Amino acid sequence: MKLIDPIIQSSSELQQIRRDIHAHPELSYEEHRTSEIVAKKLTEWGIPVLRGMSITGVVGIIKNGDGKRAIGLRADMDALPMQEFNTFPHASKHEGKMHACGHDGHTAMLLGAARYLSQHRNFDGTVYLIFQPAEEGGGGAKRMMEDGLFERCPMDAIFGMHNWPGVAVGSFAVTPGPMMASSNEFEVIVKGKGAHAAQPHKGIDPIMIAVQIAQSWQTIITRNKNPIEPAVLSITQIHSGSATNVIPDDATLIGTVRTFNVDALDLIEQRMRDIARYTAAAFDAQIDFHFKRNYPPLINHARETAFAVEVMQSVVGAQNVNSRVEPTMGAEDFAFMLQQKPGCYVFIGNGEGEHRDVGHSFGPCNLHNPTYDFNDDLLPIGATYWVRLAERYLPITAQR
Ligand SMILES: [Zn+2]
Ligand SMILES: [Zn+2]
Repeated sequence: MKLIDPIIQSSSELQQIRRDIHAHPELSYEEHRTSEIVAKKLTEWGIPVLRGMSITGVVGIIKNGDGKRAIGLRADMDALPMQEFNTFPHASKHEGKMHACGHDGHTAMLLGAARYLSQHRNFDGTVYLIFQPAEEGGGGAKRMMEDGLFERCPMDAIFGMHNWPGVAVGSFAVTPGPMMASSNEFEVIVKGKGAHAAQPHKGIDPIMIAVQIAQSWQTIITRNKNPIEPAVLSITQIHSGSATNVIPDDATLIGTVRTFNVDALDLIEQRMRDIARYTAAAFDAQIDFHFKRNYPPLINHARETAFAVEVMQSVVGAQNVNSRVEPTMGAEDFAFMLQQKPGCYVFIGNGEGEHRDVGHSFGPCNLHNPTYDFNDDLLPIGATYWVRLAERYLPITAQR
């Protein structure tokens, strides 16, 4: 591995920052303390900051030379509304809140890169260090764009990174094209007519209709969608009724749809609506159909991905970069940014969990698991990747 010496030397400070943020997790759009730490550190290192985009967002700006090109490096800062089971000293001090996705580490890695870039300045152009709130469902990336991110910080490309449990430390994984899925949620209410359970002929049973709709929806995946195109339709909640002897008035179906492609999503939504409507009509019932598109699919741009692969290879060696990783059905709001700017999002290996301190709980070290912890060994690796990415994207040329 070719890590940058001054970054290796700053590792213990980055670890302190990371663990401090881990101990004080803040939920989407409430990242006031974290945002304050980020802005304070950047300012300390002489980096001008823009604050307030997407409420708690922070952007550090490092300009060097007279180059016109600019690159954006993006980290996320928010935690999850879940209880941490670990009891080591840096475990969450906030009941019901936890950095279970490693955004504490993402923030620390980008800070490590920021400090090096501002002190060494081996590039010609502008580096935007983007610390965004509310990745976990809140669409903080989109909101930063709505608040003028790309107008106030015009950049030629943008890059993102997420730690990935199960991939070895010192490895990276990425793929051009679709890498993460679109995430969408639905709520469909079947409105029947309640009755005494012993007199079903006097009512319209919404439960029977809901069950038929639930089963028929799966035929969208197997019979309507092109089998080459991946998609998931999961019904995760069915609610109805309150007694053994009452046919209820209505039944509610709730769940999620994931796709890598917007055309497939359009088809699935339309078919779900038609099947629900006509099945209900066949039984004299009605439906309320709600379908919400949260995050679009994350599509890596080919040229920027090839570039990111070269940089990762220069840091950890070609044998430690998987440039054709299998996509995941998880979602990520960096996808919004990639709809407007060319760029690439990569996974950095977080290992299997052996790194966890004494006091970690017994579950797997997976994302969104109460026993997860970010692996501090990644701090210098991720920070080095960020620095090399910026330096190679904004090279200093011989003639000015
Ligand atoms: Zn997450
Ligand atoms: Zn995450």
